[in-house]
Amino acid sequence: MTEKFDIIVVGAGILGVASAYYLQKNNPDKTVLLVDSQPDAGQANTAMSAAAIRNMFSSSTNQLLTDTSIDFFRHIHDDLKFDLTLHLCGYLWLLSEQQFKEPSVQTWMQRMEANDIAYRVIEQKELQQLIPGLVCEFSAEDEEAALMHLNNVDYALFGAECGVLDPSLLVQFYKSEFLKLSKVKPRFNLRVDSLLLEAQPSLGLPGEPLVWQQKQVTGIRTSQGNIHADKVVVAVGPWTNTLLDPVGIPSYVKAKKRQLFMVAASDHPPLEELLFTKGFSDTGFIPFTILPSGGVYVRGVPEEKSFWIGCADKVGRAYKYTMDEEDYSGERAYYENSVYPVLSKYFPAFANIRPGNMWAGDYAYAVDAIPLIYEHSGVLVVTGASGSGIMKADAIARIADALYRGEPKATLYGGRTIPADSLGLTNRKVEVESVLI
Ligand SMILES: Cc1cc2nc3c(=O)[nH]c(=O)nc-3n(C[C@H](O)[C@H](O)[C@H](O)COP(=O)(O)OP(=O)(O)OC[C@H]3O[C@@H](n4cnc5c(N)ncnc54)[C@H](O)[C@@H]3O)c2cc1C
Repeated sequence: MTEKFDIIVVGAGILGVASAYYLQKNNPDKTVLLVDSQPDAGQANTAMSAAAIRNMFSSSTNQLLTDTSIDFFRHIHDDLKFDLTLHLCGYLWLLSEQQFKEPSVQTWMQRMEANDIAYRVIEQKELQQLIPGLVCEFSAEDEEAALMHLNNVDYALFGAECGVLDPSLLVQFYKSEFLKLSKVKPRFNLRVDSLLLEAQPSLGLPGEPLVWQQKQVTGIRTSQGNIHADKVVVAVGPWTNTLLDPVGIPSYVKAKKRQLFMVAASDHPPLEELLFTKGFSDTGFIPFTILPSGGVYVRGVPEEKSFWIGCADKVGRAYKYTMDEEDYSGERAYYENSVYPVLSKYFPAFANIRPGNMWAGDYAYAVDAIPLIYEHSGVLVVTGASGSGIMKADAIARIADALYRGEPKATLYGGRTIPADSLGLTNRKVEVESVLI
């Protein structure tokens, strides 16, 4: 006899776990099975993340998704006393004068103002006082800087309501809340080989479903046999195409590799001083800082006395159809030849220090860099977080649940609402996101 549940959630990354939680919470009579090929929840890209959280986006949609999610994370951490290692150290975008004046940056600032997203502009003089170890200007004789097209730092945009957290603790929160409510034990180490597409109703004809029959995804195929459900939620991040393409359901996501390099600050006094930069927030360490050239960014990890260094390389870094095993490996040569030269010009404290550890994962990019949440042929697709799935997770999961319940609007944490179908394919109503890392 085949098993049957009301809902199967495939993928227990942050988006799958948070979705499973809201689906179970708001549909208490339904049975929800959570499935993942990994040994536990949050082991894939969620674990690889820099887990920085910001509401400083250019699109009103991403601002709403992140602002309400961050408020919920603060609620978990401060009110529910569930430690997320949440630090509001801020985000600091370093910009040249030319970048600051670009229409895209001006629109970004205008939209933040219109939507009450807190930020302030810091000018070079103040910035230099706050971070004495930052090189803001390169002389005309600096051949290296010229060769690498390094921009001067004339301005910074600082967002105080942004910061960092531990993504595994966030996963743990949603997973433990889900387990309190669910009657069904999640199944880990279980790979979904494909979705089951069946004729509705089945007439028992050879070759079903035939082209003239109505079709619906009715479950999943696994090594433990077929498991049926009225709704299959596909929350598999950069593997979305592997499940949707074989049954002909559109997905519109592409994968792209992203890497992080851990550089220890202990035993290097200038780096330690940089890490514990005061003056931006009461956390007493450096904000998540994005350099004005090369896409290089710096995330302080005070618990480890280290930095995680990343890079949002755009053209030149391949888009992929799906994530491969090799995408989990950091590339030392990439750090040494691409990231380090830029990083050490702006922050000489990093000079001659090699990363002690490195790792990587994939982003699941949507074309407009706004998440994709939609129903199609019995599937509820939750994907396309575009490199910012941790910080949007709570809102995305609430929208998925509202769609499942057929609600016209999803109510996000704090009471703001969004049309439940606005991140779908048919009635998609979003501005293209331009502030990507
Ligand atoms: C280097 C890096 C830095 C990042 N930094 C940030 C950041 O600072 N802030 C931020 O918000 N986001 C960041 N992100 C992005 C963030 O990690 C993702 O947006 C988020 O983790 C997406 O969650 P997900 O649940 O969609 O995907 P995942 O965490 O990848 O989860 C998908 C799950 O599906 C499972 N799965 C896949 N296929 C199958 C199958 N066939 N059967 C069963 N299970 C399957 C996988 O095992 C996995 O557990 C970063 C990502 C990377 C790689």
